[in-house]
Amino acid sequence: MIVRKSPEELDRMRRAGRVVADTISRLLEAVAPGRTTFDLDRLAAQTIEAVGARPSFKGYRGFPATICTSIDHEIVHGIPSRTRRLTEGQLLSLDVGAVWEGFHADSAVTVVVGGIAPSPEAERLLKTTEAALDAAIERVRPGGRLSDIGHAIEEVAEREGLGLVREYGGHGIGRALHEDPFVQNWGDPGRGPELKPGLVLALEPMLNLGGDATRLLPDGWTVVTADGSLSAHFEHTVAVTETGHEVLTARDR
Ligand code: MG
Ligand code: MG
Repeated sequence: MIVRKSPEELDRMRRAGRVVADTISRLLEAVAPGRTTFDLDRLAAQTIEAVGARPSFKGYRGFPATICTSIDHEIVHGIPSRTRRLTEGQLLSLDVGAVWEGFHADSAVTVVVGGIAPSPEAERLLKTTEAALDAAIERVRPGGRLSDIGHAIEEVAEREGLGLVREYGGHGIGRALHEDPFVQNWGDPGRGPELKPGLVLALEPMLNLGGDATRLLPDGWTVVTADGSLSAHFEHTVAVTETGHEVLTARDR
C-alpha cells in the first residue's frame, strides 16, 4: 500500500533528511586512507545521535551497524569493520539512514578514497551513476508515472554502456525505511502508479563497470558484482510536491 505524507509528516521527513545529509557531509570530510570503515560508522552514530535522531539501519533485519560501507566491487549493504582500512583510490559507497520523530530518510554517495580515481573508467562510473540519479529525480513530478524513474536510470546506464543492477532498487519511505512502492531501476516509461504530491521515494541507481549480475557474500548482507567489476551507488530521498519535487536529503542547502 502506498502511503502519501501530510505536510506535517513531510516536515519530519525534511528534518530526518537534514540529519542524513549532515551526517554524510561529516563522513565525506573524514574519509581518508588509513581510516577504518568502523571509524566512519562510529562518527555517523555520534552525528545522528547528537541531534536526537536514531540510525535507521542498525538492527534492521539484524543489520549490525549504523551505516553501510561498500568498497570497489561491493555494490551495497557492506558492513563496517574494525579491521578494514581504507586505501588510496578505492571507491567507497556510504549509505546513511536516520529516523526523526518516527520518519526515515535514506541517502548514499560514492567517493574515491584520497580523491584520485584509480582510472578514467572509474571516474566515468561515478559521474554516470550520479547523472542517473539526477535524471531519476527530474522525472519525479505530479502526473508522472512510477516507471518513468527507472526508465530514466536505464537510459543513462545504456548510453554509457555500463552494467545496471536490476535485483535491487529504490523504495517508498516514511514511517518505515522500506515502504511501497518498489522503484525498479529499468523498464518502459508510463507504467505503474501515478506520482502524486505527498509521495516520498528513495531513488538509488547502482551501476557497474562490468555486467549487471550480482552475488550475495556469505555474511548475508554484502552484495557484490558477480564479475568483480567496480560498482557505484548514489541515493536521495525525494518528495513529490504540487509543482515538481523536493530532495529531502540534499547536501547543498
Ligand atoms: Mg540507502
Ligand atoms: Mg534505500
